[in-house]
Amino acid sequence: MKHKKIRIAILGSTGSIGKQALEIIQNHNKLFEVVLLSAHSNWRLLDEQVKTFDAKYAVLTGLKNENGHIQIGDSAKTKTYVDPYVLNELVNLPEIDIVLNSLVGFAGFSPTYYALKAHKKVALANKESLVVGGAIITELLTESKGSLIPIDSEHSAMLQSLVGEEKEDIEEIIITASGGPFRSLTLEQMQNVSVEQALQHPNWSMGSKITIDSATMMNKGLEIIEAHWLFDLPIEKITPVVHPESIIHSMVTYCDGSTKAQLGPPDMKVPILYALSYPRRLPLNSSRMDWSQIHKLHFEPVDYLRFPCIELAINSVRLHNGGPAILNAANEVAVAYFLEGKIKYIDIVKIIERCLNQIQFNSTLSYDSLVELDQQTRDYARTICQHGTN
Ligand code: NDP
Ligand code: MG
Repeated sequence: MKHKKIRIAILGSTGSIGKQALEIIQNHNKLFEVVLLSAHSNWRLLDEQVKTFDAKYAVLTGLKNENGHIQIGDSAKTKTYVDPYVLNELVNLPEIDIVLNSLVGFAGFSPTYYALKAHKKVALANKESLVVGGAIITELLTESKGSLIPIDSEHSAMLQSLVGEEKEDIEEIIITASGGPFRSLTLEQMQNVSVEQALQHPNWSMGSKITIDSATMMNKGLEIIEAHWLFDLPIEKITPVVHPESIIHSMVTYCDGSTKAQLGPPDMKVPILYALSYPRRLPLNSSRMDWSQIHKLHFEPVDYLRFPCIELAINSVRLHNGGPAILNAANEVAVAYFLEGKIKYIDIVKIIERCLNQIQFNSTLSYDSLVELDQQTRDYARTICQHGTN
């Protein structure tokens, strides 16, 4: 018998996307139910969430359970796992219909891979999965009965603009970028920006890693790679444009010169819900645009001199098939060091560049070789962070 509700596992439920996904599920509790929730170390919030949503499985990936004492929720209702790798197995559970992957960083790659292997529908916020493993994941998708629906707002906008269209008719995808908190700064002014300044995103409230990626605009570089794999388009056909209001979430231009776009207030609940309900829509009690008050929308070209990370990302795809994995791992390490106040904002790009130039990748592309390349890059990037970039 078919289960009445759609059963969801949220990987990274204590994060910015995870919490918003839970709000949506609460508002549509006749349609959706939560089966599994995971956090890295925030066990207090995970415990609250598990109790509120009666989740059957709780996972902590970043703590040690030496005495076996950690129990999330009520032991009669919830099975707790404290294990860094167990998500790779649990995404197989027959009682999961959708895996919503809102983990941050390369940690999200393996669960995406194993969920698709297990023929699940994956609602994907974790863009790093596709940046690093796009080739492997898209190959897996040809054999898997599972599917991959993006949550990233730009990619959701692309998907919505592609409904009813043929791939051959696409001329170009225009991916919009807010420009982040440093959109108007000169290179000189960027020399000494603080962590606090970099964390002040003008339009979106998000986790700290993606907020820093938005400040360097690496986020747009990662998203171009993400779009390249999701929609099977050459990287040259995906053009970034700065649009400071974040109202147009992305656009697709077709061969007749017509452009379709998806617009709305910057609110991640819209793409999260769309990924869960796709291809249908469900009501959302979010704010609405008052179009009579929108007098102007602004656009400007990307300044690659002030924001070199976008070009580094694009070029990493052309370098070799391990390029994006090196880019991503170096970026994760550099951002973590920057957030800890151990390197400067302007060092981030130098560290990534150095890793891309120095690390070789001669292996055949596979799940295992990518995991190894990620680790090798992290070790090298940490050494640079500790010894300085000069
Ligand atoms: P957050 O940092 O807010 O949340 C990350 C979640 O992952 C938390 O639940 C955290 O647990 C868990 N986590 C952290 N590190 C690890 C690890 N090494 N292994 C397993 N779990 C881990 O991130 P966001 O919600 O902002 O972003 C999640 C993903 O979605 C990212 O890939 C981001 O690029 C993407 N995205 C986010 C958007 C946003 O608006 N936030 C918009 C578009 C895309 P704990 O709380 O215990 O640390
Ligand atoms: Mg985005």
